[in-house]
Amino acid sequence: MDNRKRDIFESSGRYTRDFSHFKKKLVKYLNAYQIKKIEKAYSLANEAHSGQLRKDGEKYILHPLSAASILADFQMDHETLMAAILHDVIEDSQFDKSHLMKTFGPKVSELVDGVSKLDKINFTTKEEADAANLRKMILAMSQDIRVILIKLADRKNNLETISALREDKRVQKAKETLEIFAPIALRLGIHSLNKELENLSFKAIHPTRYRVLKDALNKSRGNRNELMEKIRKVILSKLDNEQIKTEVIAREKHLYGIYKKMKQKELSFSEIHDVFGVRIICENVDSCYRSLGTVHNTYTPIPGRFKDYIAIPKSNGYQSLHTSILGPHGLPIELQIRTREMDVMAQTGIASHWFYKSKDKPLIKNYTQEQQWITNLLTIQRDSGNPQEYLKSIKADLFPGKVYVFTPKGQIVELPKKSTIIDYAYSIHTDVGNNYSSAKVDDKLTSPNTVLKSGQRVEIITKASIRPDPSWLNFAVTEKARHSIRASLKLIKKKDAKILGKRLLQNSLKNFDIKISEIPKKTLNMVLQEYKCDTVDDLYCEIGLGNRIAKLVAMRVAPRDNITEKTKSVGVNIKGTEGLVLSFAKCCYPIPGDNILGHISQEKGIVVHRHACKSIRKDKKASDETFDLAWDENINDSFNACIKIEVENQRGVLASISSEISQLDSDIVSVRYDDSKQTGHNIMIFVVTIFDTKALDKLVRSLRKNSNVLKIERKRA
Ligand code: MN
Repeated sequence: MDNRKRDIFESSGRYTRDFSHFKKKLVKYLNAYQIKKIEKAYSLANEAHSGQLRKDGEKYILHPLSAASILADFQMDHETLMAAILHDVIEDSQFDKSHLMKTFGPKVSELVDGVSKLDKINFTTKEEADAANLRKMILAMSQDIRVILIKLADRKNNLETISALREDKRVQKAKETLEIFAPIALRLGIHSLNKELENLSFKAIHPTRYRVLKDALNKSRGNRNELMEKIRKVILSKLDNEQIKTEVIAREKHLYGIYKKMKQKELSFSEIHDVFGVRIICENVDSCYRSLGTVHNTYTPIPGRFKDYIAIPKSNGYQSLHTSILGPHGLPIELQIRTREMDVMAQTGIASHWFYKSKDKPLIKNYTQEQQWITNLLTIQRDSGNPQEYLKSIKADLFPGKVYVFTPKGQIVELPKKSTIIDYAYSIHTDVGNNYSSAKVDDKLTSPNTVLKSGQRVEIITKASIRPDPSWLNFAVTEKARHSIRASLKLIKKKDAKILGKRLLQNSLKNFDIKISEIPKKTLNMVLQEYKCDTVDDLYCEIGLGNRIAKLVAMRVAPRDNITEKTKSVGVNIKGTEGLVLSFAKCCYPIPGDNILGHISQEKGIVVHRHACKSIRKDKKASDETFDLAWDENINDSFNACIKIEVENQRGVLASISSEISQLDSDIVSVRYDDSKQTGHNIMIFVVTIFDTKALDKLVRSLRKNSNVLKIERKRA
């Protein structure tokens, strides 16, 4: 729309051209004496930076001048503007603090000192220096809030002119802005600076994504213009009829906000519905509510979307009415309705204090909450030991949705709230997650589903032989962990399936006196085509996953003469390490030593049962869906077995049985009471880990000696 307005505090240029250009902003709200003082500061800065160039070849002075110009848009007082012009003088020239003190007085020199960095020589790492500088700045800001406003303007202009910097420096500056300075701007209610800092950082980190998204926005703005203009006209004319004086502005979400939403909710650009909205600026609070009534009368409001932040302001002082309506073509449109003061307030936050001071208007809000927050930052500063820890605490404070934990080497890892050890492991490296074996939190062994808290030190112990556990998906919260677990399980399952499938086919072929290598190529290709497999490995996979039955595949590929089946029936050996493609039935709990068979089920793939299992014996044993299996000779794993114990109804029975079980190197996986039979005794069903039938016999014999045990048996299906 033609008269689409930029936010009033948004500046466009990279550098302010020169002092006279800058001065045009000053005459609007400062007196001649104040402007004179600013001019004096400028001439000193000009002298201090004479001969210095920016990385992009421009005169250095243009940078502090531009920072001051950004602050002039907020109509900041003359001291702030002076300090902004002088902000790099202490750091980068021969003039020191005492010189500024003598020339411009204590207020200005303190402000400049507040944004000046500490001497680099005092630090060994950049991280340490950053933390110490931030600490210094926050201390200065607690004494004079204008320090942070200068710092934010400085940062904004640095980002505006960042393209001349090396890529790594660019990304690092932008990241720091997203982590520290943009959130501080938001915390102080300066939404306009917050959005600009975010957009500029986004552009510096992901130039291509930024451009693509910007193009998409421009295109869709073209499509939306007509529609928004229509709404604007309708609302304006209705409000005019009601004699409510307003300004109706079409507005759009900032690029980084759109990007964040797309990423978080995994949406495409076209799926974001609140990109465009309408803002109605009214003369007073009364007309805000009357405008709302008119809008709701004209368009259907969407239930549950109305919020009255005028009556109940947000904690940072933000005031506005919010509602959503169904516009033309049933398109949802977000509306903000507020007074001009509230609008200025929403964009400038704490800086509105100076904005109104310059107009001799009373403040519309006092900043006790912001003061409280800054005091809180000071407490953090007092309580935290080293600079890194301080940086972490500040970040934790700025991002309440995050936790910050340490690696054993003291590096900080940022994770979303509710993240677990597994999320942490994957955030370090996919391999660390995939090979996760155990973890220590603050030197104590901890289970993988433990939810992390800020400040904890986490150590992951890995083992190359270990594979991800499907149960991790029940508690991992980060996308990286969940994605990596799923991807790696899929891969493992395929590998497992291939190996098992090959063995199953080899074994079935024994009955036809033929080896895999002896299958004629022509036959094999025909079968592969028939089964829609590209390679033999794919076929093994299909068999291993239980999608194809080995016996039938064998019959299909065996030469006709061999089809008279010989009854060798040698079982396929299993080790229990077949992984995700083989599972052990929970009806009969087979363990090494048992006679076993495999059963192919649609949902579960291949399941191992005992021969004696009733659920298998009934009808399925003869069918093609079962086949013989045998245990490998060398098995080192333990398996689950189920035993039923009938005991006296006495205190301490469970404890005595439990301790006996653990003394025999078994673990209790689960225990439950079976009260289906009214025997007057307790019947307990234990699932325990055990190596084989021999070990189980030993366990049963030992438990029989327990005087409380009346009856004990291995549970049948
Ligand atoms: Mn600077």
